[in-house]
Amino acid sequence: MKYYSTNGNAPIADLHKAVVKGLAEDRGLYMPERIQKLPKEFFDNIQDMTFQEIAYNVASAFFGEDVDLDALKDIVYDTLSFDCPVEKVKENIYTLELFHGPTLAFKDVGARFMARLLQYFIKQEGKGEQVNVLVATSGDTGSAVANGFLGVDGIHVYVLYPKGKVSPIQECQFTTLGKNITAIEVDGVFDDCQALVKNAFMDAELNQHMKLTSANSINVARFLPQAFYYFNAYARMKAQGKADNLVMCVPSGNFGNICAALFGHEMGLPIKRFIAANNANDIFYKYLQTGKYEPKPSKQTLANAMDVGDPSNFARIYDLYGKSHEKITSLISGATYSDEDICETMKQCYEETKYVLDPHGACGYQALVDGLKDGEVGVFCETAHPAKFKEKVDDILGIDVEIPDRLAAFMKGEKQSVPMTKDFADFKKYLMKQ
Ligand SMILES: *Cc1c(COP(=O)(O)O)cnc(C)c1O
Repeated sequence: MKYYSTNGNAPIADLHKAVVKGLAEDRGLYMPERIQKLPKEFFDNIQDMTFQEIAYNVASAFFGEDVDLDALKDIVYDTLSFDCPVEKVKENIYTLELFHGPTLAFKDVGARFMARLLQYFIKQEGKGEQVNVLVATSGDTGSAVANGFLGVDGIHVYVLYPKGKVSPIQECQFTTLGKNITAIEVDGVFDDCQALVKNAFMDAELNQHMKLTSANSINVARFLPQAFYYFNAYARMKAQGKADNLVMCVPSGNFGNICAALFGHEMGLPIKRFIAANNANDIFYKYLQTGKYEPKPSKQTLANAMDVGDPSNFARIYDLYGKSHEKITSLISGATYSDEDICETMKQCYEETKYVLDPHGACGYQALVDGLKDGEVGVFCETAHPAKFKEKVDDILGIDVEIPDRLAAFMKGEKQSVPMTKDFADFKKYLMKQ
């Protein structure tokens, strides 16, 4: 499979290059040249297949030309070592819980898949050269990437995070791992971390010294595997005889997750329509109303993993539907909620159903309550475990959310990090010694 850039000004790439580079030369996002439809028999039997079996079929359609099928199967089965249940919350509204991975983040799937695929390509090159992944994080991405790459030989990960600006739980998830993961505690803010990473990629001497790559969320190997979730959700709903008029609702920030769902739809997944649920960052919502895409600085909200003012995957969605506002609005609708709305939703849902929503999932749930039509069945993604936002959830609902063992286990490890200034010269000096 070949990949082109959404900006249309870069050479066509193969999968290997698209995964290693992440972003095309013209700063566009890589798109597969073709999207293969899956056969009717697959959808006829999907309800009897496991999450792993379903995912392997989907992965083969995307990556089967470029990755040996046995290796691909191994990568998929290793990535999906956990469950992805769909549960009824109330009449016609179901939750798809995407938070049962190693760090309780839906980003775990993309991170692990990318780590294993990168490892596959490095081995294929056969140079035995170590690859170094640099990632700047404000919290969640760092933990998913660090855990996804943990123990994957041939790859070393440097996680740069702003000192004192990530939650204690998040910090433990990438500073206690050891092995091939190094946490770098930058005396600055998130933007400083990102600037250090960008400077490193542009520094010729450093790139001579070591092979650098990024694990950015726009990487095809990180966003596409999220399509697995939606095929699995369809299968589980079909098994209950509830899959005929399905509406899929995705709480969205950078729009990678919903974009993967839309790729699934292009492969033939029978979802009737989609809803992108936003917090107060309503750029996509406004686009749907007006046809104009106008990025803005992000606003801080309760659902902070969706605080994005210029969603990077909009470019992919726009490209997927031939830049047609009409096509996009015929398939996708939007919703936007203030922090006040989010609190109100969490309380109402808890009172009515006892289901504990986190602030991100709350946007998805409410968008279904507000937008579902007669005869439709809605599934919303619950993108975060409520314990990850424990202080907020406890406070809003007046309860004491239990911390899952897996999360608590991270808190017991010993924190190890390398202190760093925000001065690139210091960071470069450090890397030149590795
Ligand atoms: C990353 C994230 C989102 C947004 O997903 P996108 O793919 O960026 O749209 C939503 N909720 C949580 C908890 C997240 O971590």
